Amino acid sequence: MSFERFRSGPRISVDNDRCELYAICQAEAPELFELGPDGRLRYRRRLAERDYQAAAAAARCCPTQAISPRGLPGDRGIELTGKPEDSAPRRAEPPRQR
Ligand code: SF4
Repeated sequence: MSFERFRSGPRISVDNDRCELYAICQAEAPELFELGPDGRLRYRRRLAERDYQAAAAAARCCPTQAISPRGLPGDRGIELTGKPEDSAPRRAEPPRQR
């Protein structure tokens, strides 16, 4: 059985080792992120086209750079919402291989 179809397409991942549960991502993109009453961050992994900007903004705002957008058009990732004054786009580290 191939899991390739589950891995393809625009998506985000959150590195749990980096995430400090500040919930800034929820404030930036509440349609994608939710910090639950149990203290766990839940998020929508697969992105629709309408989510690209919000996902990129959340990744850019995360203070620990725990959010990694993948497969966005042109693989520009968080550059999608880069402000003109952001001369050096930042990227979160890829998730660790298990
Ligand atoms: S903004 Fe970053 S550190 Fe804060 S909850 Fe979201 S992913 Fe975690």
